Amino acid sequence: MSTSEAAIDRIQQRAPRPALVDTFGRAVTYLRVSVTDRCDFRCVYCMAEHMTFLPKPELLTLEELDRLCSAFVARGVSKLRLTGGEPLVRRDVMTLFRSLSRHLDSGALEELTLTTNGSQLARFAGDLAACGVKRINVSLDTLDADRFRALTRWGDLNKVLAGIDAAQRAGLHVKLNAVALAGENEDEIPSLIEWAHGRGMDLSLIEVMPLGETGAERLDQYLPLSTVRARLAERWTLEDIPFRTGGPARYVSIKETGGRLGLITPLTHNFCEGCNRVRVTCTGTLYMCLGQDDAADLRAPLRASESDERLHAALDDAIFRKPKGHDFVIDRPGQAPAVRRHMSMTGG
Ligand code: SAM
Ligand code: SF4
Repeated sequence: MSTSEAAIDRIQQRAPRPALVDTFGRAVTYLRVSVTDRCDFRCVYCMAEHMTFLPKPELLTLEELDRLCSAFVARGVSKLRLTGGEPLVRRDVMTLFRSLSRHLDSGALEELTLTTNGSQLARFAGDLAACGVKRINVSLDTLDADRFRALTRWGDLNKVLAGIDAAQRAGLHVKLNAVALAGENEDEIPSLIEWAHGRGMDLSLIEVMPLGETGAERLDQYLPLSTVRARLAERWTLEDIPFRTGGPARYVSIKETGGRLGLITPLTHNFCEGCNRVRVTCTGTLYMCLGQDDAADLRAPLRASESDERLHAALDDAIFRKPKGHDFVIDRPGQAPAVRRHMSMTGG
């Protein structure tokens, strides 16, 4: 970096930077970052059995991830979620959590959190809590060990349950996410809800999204949550509630279980108008919309200079292009995915 570049950088580091606001007036305050494309599971709706993962040099280093996240925080991002792949299988990922926690201490960041499959939680729950993480999302589609193994191909249910126990013991607020899968876990949805609510956890159901080739037919897996909701309403008293977490989930309370159920319906309900989020892959590609292919490369500006000026210019450029919404469809057999990349690339 030249002396003048460094000086400008120092001045601008002190000056507050403009917030990231798109052309539809939506402020980007929520960033999801995939810290790895690797995973210790191979969930049937997410990955193919034999995945080819990225060569290591393509991945942002932990230092680069810190710089990138910090640049977003400087532009008004107040909620940061690390995801993957499985974020807790990235080597030394706690170093990143620890360094990012400085933004919690400064008050710039309101929340630092993660989405995890839970397999490594027993090991990391205490460290996460020590880094200021308060709430985590754990993905769990079934409580049946054999079914769990079949759905995740490689997973061990007991490890995940031990991880959830450890997280709750460490004082982390756990929310469960379950993908609703036709013919796979649909019969189990009520018992999953009862189990979660019985342990003081909210649960959100997610419709399967057409992201990346997995070798499975999405139309066979697709279970509209409108159907699930109608079935649950025959058993329980559901009431729409205004509770929001800033995301796409719409919530209902269930009188009989005393808990909240989130319904994430990208296919039957368009949630784009309130979208406040963007996603970055582990290679530093910024996707302004989960369901569109347009993207911006942030790795080149990150690596081009020690100054963050190029990075901020790339952010301005990209946010200007944030589209109004996505157009997922999943109604034709054999249809190609809406976008080619897997969920594990962009992060859930
Ligand atoms: N490995 C972590 C986990 O499973 O929680 C984080 C990454 S995973 C890609 C994030 C979330 O995306 C998980 O809840 C997973 O169930 C969900 N997911 C993956 N593929 C999906 C798809 N095609 N449709 C809907 N949800 C999907
Ligand atoms: Fe791994 Fe999460 Fe994808 Fe399952 S959903 S394969 S745990 S990244």
